[in-house]
Amino acid sequence: MAAGGTAQSRLDKIVMLIAAEMGADVCSCYVMRAGEVLELFATIGLNLDAVHKTRLRVGEGLVGDIAAHARPVALANAPSHPNFAYRPETGEDPFDSFMGVPILRGGRVRGVLAIQHIARRAYDEQDVETLETIAMVVAELVATGELVDNRELQVANDLVLLPSRLDGVSLNRGIAMAMAVLHRPQLTIRQMVADDPELELRRLREAVDSMHSAIDRLLILSGETGGEHHEIIETYRMFATDRGWLSRIREAIRTGLTAEAAVQQVQNDNRARMASVTDSYIRERQLDLDDITNRLLQHLAGRQDKADGGTLPDAFVLVARNLGPAELLDYDSTRLRGLVLEEGAAYSHVAIVARALDIPVVGQCTGVLNRIDPLDFVIVDGDHGQVFVRPAEDITEAFLKSIEVGEERKREFAAARKLESVTRDGVAVRLMLNAGLLIDLPHLHATGADGIGLYRTEIPFMVRHTYPDTAVQKETYAKVLDEAGDKPVTFRTLDVGGDKTLPYFPDLGEENPALGWRAIRIGLDRPAMLRKQLRALLWAASGRDLRLMFPMVAEVSEFLRARRVLDLELRRLEQGGVAPPRDLKVGVMMEVPALLFQLDALLPHIDFMSVGSNDLLQYLFASDRGNPMLNNRYDLLSPAMLSVLRMLVRRCDEAGVQLSLCGEMASRPLDAMALLGCGFRTLSMSPGAFGEIKTMIRSVNVDVLQRFLDSLLGRPDRSLRQHLLAFARDHGVRL
Ligand code: PEP
Ligand code: MG
Repeated sequence: MAAGGTAQSRLDKIVMLIAAEMGADVCSCYVMRAGEVLELFATIGLNLDAVHKTRLRVGEGLVGDIAAHARPVALANAPSHPNFAYRPETGEDPFDSFMGVPILRGGRVRGVLAIQHIARRAYDEQDVETLETIAMVVAELVATGELVDNRELQVANDLVLLPSRLDGVSLNRGIAMAMAVLHRPQLTIRQMVADDPELELRRLREAVDSMHSAIDRLLILSGETGGEHHEIIETYRMFATDRGWLSRIREAIRTGLTAEAAVQQVQNDNRARMASVTDSYIRERQLDLDDITNRLLQHLAGRQDKADGGTLPDAFVLVARNLGPAELLDYDSTRLRGLVLEEGAAYSHVAIVARALDIPVVGQCTGVLNRIDPLDFVIVDGDHGQVFVRPAEDITEAFLKSIEVGEERKREFAAARKLESVTRDGVAVRLMLNAGLLIDLPHLHATGADGIGLYRTEIPFMVRHTYPDTAVQKETYAKVLDEAGDKPVTFRTLDVGGDKTLPYFPDLGEENPALGWRAIRIGLDRPAMLRKQLRALLWAASGRDLRLMFPMVAEVSEFLRARRVLDLELRRLEQGGVAPPRDLKVGVMMEVPALLFQLDALLPHIDFMSVGSNDLLQYLFASDRGNPMLNNRYDLLSPAMLSVLRMLVRRCDEAGVQLSLCGEMASRPLDAMALLGCGFRTLSMSPGAFGEIKTMIRSVNVDVLQRFLDSLLGRPDRSLRQHLLAFARDHGVRL
């Protein structure tokens, strides 16, 4: 509908088309301006001199009434209505019937669209619906800010600003409040055909060159900040230089299209071809191609600067349908406070990068782009997976208080960094870090952790588009060891499958992926892959200490087979003249309950065990850890789970096997207190949890706690949480 030209000329055409389509004598469009004033912006049928002169306050006349109540009005005899406000300059005396609808966007009235007829007529529901549908198109035009600068409306009051709360899923914790920046909307292509294909080809060439230089600049920048980012952007460059893609665009230009239209056409063809593809790897590629297409369009339009460059607010929350990790890195991270996505999954690339940037993220926030306008004030509550748009003052104040309390606690925890991790009765507890990205590593020193208790090697695999070869893997592991210095690092071999998919792995379409072909099962069935990873780890740790563990082991024989592969690689290494690790310790993750019944056979073979409480709970209770319907149905603090944990402490102590726990449980103060009560003395957790866990440890007397917990384990309760809370309260434990 009426593409091309300025926003004003498009609006002029739209009112003409509506009048023709609906057989109306008049069609007018009023647009909201600052101070709650509706200005006549375009009309067909009324006096054209009134355009940009006639203004109505919200609530004034029929048009003002529609805006005030955000609802349509349809009247056969309008002049007799008490709200009718006659404006002589418009020349509207001869028109009897009136129908108008609000132009709504982002939960806010942005204007009014109205038609009038000379002859008296009764409008029906279908008429109203038709005009409402067209008003949605006009709303998009208004939202571009080309008719009225969006900033002008920031002063408007609650009448037209409807606050709202949107639910999503927490992809990263934390709270942020700032103005919203909508991720670059797709550029509208104004001109489709061109007379001079040579000129268009030159424009394409220049845009491609400028895009390449921009990506190269990003590559240099990302090389300075972290390995994974670099790899992701490298993949983008690969797409951007794809000859097939570029030559199809050139062909389209030769058929007479403008460069922009050709880029878009090739993209549409791609999309159409991919529409029926369900393979997640190919769909991911589509996202990358969308990203590159948008970039190229930006460069063709001469907007090659970093996302919105200098016009970005000093602090902002980014709102997008979805976006690639490289696009996120395009934004100035010093000003980026939070991220809200209509789509997005916990293990999507963008969520992984956002977590590394330490900003709160809410994903799967359906409809958010329709509810937020640029520069709206928003609160991202990553702790509870909710977003507040234009929040009321009391909500903002409540969040400001939580941020203040959070900051205060952070300061307190930072001060606790140098304090010893020792209980009130003098028991030392080792605090380790869970990590997976190079960007996580500085936390090792900032938190004062004793080492890395779980390095999830699959994370670097997940943010790449291709399988990393041994040399690339070795480089990553060596960097981790370099950074850790003399602090121990426990590497877990690839734990993929279940909810952790690799973009370059086939989608197996398993009915029960959590019980499927995953982790060590893949490693043993595809020994080449496991061997390559072990080789990379051994190379990286040549001459230094190495701790290795295998995930999802269900049988002792699986551990022994994995261990044999390791020994084979160790021999190969020595034959190749490379020094072996100075000290090699090998362990298992305790995640599958079957292994609990093989401890006699298992313990003599392992140096250490780390409990993966996330998976152990899911398998112990047959309860999917990712299913929101089962959230909190079974408790980690149940007598069953705590009895298992206490039994493991006893058995590992007797066998002289080191024991730790690296599931999310270790990051929550009350749960971690229960772990101390079970006898755990090594906990591995996310960096954000260090302060509170150490504060809890320093305030507890484990001897008293242990005796208290022993007395509870035989109870029939589903959870001991309340008892443990009461203990903490009565004994001054700081949670
Ligand atoms: C666990 O299962 O508790 C664990 C630490 O592993 P992940 O969360 O990576 O499955
Ligand atoms: Mg696990």
